[in-house]
Amino acid sequence: MAGNGKTIFNLILSGNIPSHKIYEDEFVYAFLDINPLSRGHTLVIPKEESRTMDSLSEDSAAELGRVLPKICRAIMKITGANDYNLVQNNGENAGQTVPHLHFHIIPKYPQSNHSFIWEPKPIDHSDATELSRAILEELG
Ligand code: AMP
Repeated sequence: MAGNGKTIFNLILSGNIPSHKIYEDEFVYAFLDINPLSRGHTLVIPKEESRTMDSLSEDSAAELGRVLPKICRAIMKITGANDYNLVQNNGENAGQTVPHLHFHIIPKYPQSNHSFIWEPKPIDHSDATELSRAILEELG
């Protein structure tokens, strides 16, 4: 689904509200999260209005993918963190609060105590066989 052009990130992109910019090019903007989980917590957004990953154009996706590694490298170098989480929520039920696609880059320091709920269970191979076949077919 496309974006609605009325999110707080659009106001940041248009310069109507301030942000701590760390990177900008024709397609991508990155800035520090206003409520960071750790020092250097950054949001990387496409300038294209898209709410979730599945509606982003291939061009914007390519540009985002192209610059993410160097933005991660710069954050790690400047903060001194060795580890980080790259998090991207799609949809309210998945924890997305701002309906403009964004990647979180969250440095993880030795003393960091933030965590993400992750409760894995063993795969059901019967279901997985059917599921992988169906998705493989969908993707052509
Ligand atoms: P999510 O919950 O994945 O949608 O993440 C949205 C993020 O946007 C949160 O981590 C917020 O702290 C952050 N955020 C919201 N408003 C601003 C703002 N004006 N400047 C910087 N970060 C913001």
